[in-house]
Amino acid sequence: MISIKDLNKSYKMGKNSLHVLKGINLEVEEGEFVAIMGSSGSGKSTLLNIIGMLDTHDTGVYALDGIVIDNLTEKKAAVYRNKFLGFIFQSYNLINFKNVVENVALPLYYQKVSRSKRNEIALKYLERVGLLPWAKHMPNELSGGQKQRVAIARAMASQPKLLLADEPTGALDSVTSREIMQMIQEINDDGKTILMVTHEDDIANMCKRIVRLKDGVIMEDTKINQVRA
Ligand code: ADP
Ligand code: MG
Repeated sequence: MISIKDLNKSYKMGKNSLHVLKGINLEVEEGEFVAIMGSSGSGKSTLLNIIGMLDTHDTGVYALDGIVIDNLTEKKAAVYRNKFLGFIFQSYNLINFKNVVENVALPLYYQKVSRSKRNEIALKYLERVGLLPWAKHMPNELSGGQKQRVAIARAMASQPKLLLADEPTGALDSVTSREIMQMIQEINDDGKTILMVTHEDDIANMCKRIVRLKDGVIMEDTKINQVRA
């Protein structure tokens, strides 16, 4: 699913540059559930954003589902992003002036799915995350856990090959975090490949493999026995 060879990334800061990812090698098979760990500033989000085609790398080779992503135009990247990827963020990133069902349906709009079909699919995924009664509510009427469930429904609605999550439980209490992790584990049980950034050991242990970054280098890469949420 993911093949990364000797990938490097620097951020230009005026005259200086900050070397954030230093020779990353990473292979991820279909159906894996990988936690990306490491202290703050170690490059976790940068790596996830490059994998998600939200950012570009400087050198190295990155192939997603057999397609080499290096030097892809922004337009092509947007097409692949829509077709292959679902995202979940710590801050939910819901659109506050659209109601819940409209939020979930939005990625399908970009895939040119018809309005009635969009609505039908969005309601189906809202039901899966237990939020059908909230379909017509606005995001600011929901709790944090509910907002994240909407974000999960939105990410799943376009049936991505790969789900990318950046600290999805980072803003939630421990009980709600477990609920969200249970949902993400079920998505993985259904065969979806998942990469998830977290700095919490309890959360990482609910994945199946832990990749640990330190100062832009992979220090550890281990398969683990998954703890069920
Ligand atoms: P993590 O997610 O592990 O906390 P990040 O990948 O967000 O780390 O950041 C790694 C380093 O790159 C940090 O030092 C951060 O300040 C820097 N950085 C991240 N994004 C940018 C950016 N857009 N421009 C400049 N520096 C950045
Ligand atoms: Mg981060």
